[in-house]
Amino acid sequence: MAGSVGREPSVVFFDMDDTLFDHSLTCRAALGEVRRAEPRLAVLSLDRLWQTYLDHLGAADLTLGTVGHPPSVYAAARAARFRALAADAGWSCSPAEARELSTAYRTHYQRLRRAVPGAVELVRRVARSRPVGVVTNNQVAEQVDKVEFLGLSTTIDFLIISEAVGAEKPDPAIFRAALAAARARPREAVMVGDSWTNDVLGARRAGIRPVWFNRFRKPRPTRHQVAEVASFRPLARIERLLRRGTPRGPGRAP
Ligand SMILES: [Mg+2]
Repeated sequence: MAGSVGREPSVVFFDMDDTLFDHSLTCRAALGEVRRAEPRLAVLSLDRLWQTYLDHLGAADLTLGTVGHPPSVYAAARAARFRALAADAGWSCSPAEARELSTAYRTHYQRLRRAVPGAVELVRRVARSRPVGVVTNNQVAEQVDKVEFLGLSTTIDFLIISEAVGAEKPDPAIFRAALAAARARPREAVMVGDSWTNDVLGARRAGIRPVWFNRFRKPRPTRHQVAEVASFRPLARIERLLRRGTPRGPGRAP
């Protein structure tokens, strides 16, 4: 295609949550277990409960994804989310009840963890021919644990975590840290991620070509011409997409 970039990337970066690790569906499954055990929450559908939880999580991430909070802060935020869910269900639950719900949720979440279908195979396949990095917003301990859970500790070459870097996506600083670790220039890299703001616009701002992993087929927020994939299967298709590059259009600047 005229005007397209057709080079092999020398490094591929992946987002973690909802790109490699299936945070959303693990969350939904854990909430389902909590709902099953608590009739006062069961007045809400699982879909409603899940969406409300994600909304609260998204809002909390704006402040909690930054650097260096003790675990008690995250536990308190989780309990606050459950108080909000209970309120949504018309139940004025006590702080102690909210803590119990959030502890039960956390236990179910850990037990029900899962990878995004095809993600681990894709990372392993890509890593055969070039360095692979993970660029992710969250706490170091949490994200290292996810890498281990996915069995990718010895596969990925760089693990760039916002807490360690002191900057979070979409800040170009975290992408610059990833490029420095890979000793790569922006145009040599590709970033695969599910978040339009953090991964697509963040990568573009840093000069890195993004591939939008749009598993839930969300509407495209802007008209930027960005490669998009809804599934990592078949692997050969996404591998081609990583190589092929994306058309350049008038809306190239974020
Ligand atoms: Mg993500």
